[in-house]
Amino acid sequence: MSGGSKDLKDLASLLRQGATMTSLSCPKCSSPLFRLPSGELWCGKCKKRVVVVREGATAEAFTPIVLNNLENTLLMKIEELNSLISKESDPEKVGDLGKVLLNMLENLSRVRRLLKSGD
Ligand SMILES: [Zn+2]
Repeated sequence: MSGGSKDLKDLASLLRQGATMTSLSCPKCSSPLFRLPSGELWCGKCKKRVVVVREGATAEAFTPIVLNNLENTLLMKIEELNSLISKESDPEKVGDLGKVLLNMLENLSRVRRLLKSGD
C-alpha cells in the first residue's frame, strides 16, 4: 500500500475544512504548512501541529520547542558572557566568567544532544 495517495486525500480534506496553505515550511520535513481555521499551523505530512517560535521560524510543538527555546536562551547568554569577558580586565573576574561560560557551553551541547535524539 502506498502512502502517497493517502497524503493527497488528507491534503484535500484539509483544504475542504477551510485550511489554507502558508509560505511557511515544516521544520522537520520542509513540507508547506497549512493554517487551520482555528489559526493553528499544521503539517499534513507529519500530521502534527507546528508552532511559530519567533518570526520566520517554526518548530514542532511539544518538547522540542522547549529545547529549542533553551538552546536560543543559552546561545544568547553565551554571547552576553563573551562580550562581558572581552570588556573585563580583572583576571579573577575573567576566570569566574570563564567558568560560567564553560558551564553554559556544556549545557548547550547537552541540549543539542537531546534535540538530535528527539528525531
Ligand atoms: Zn512535516
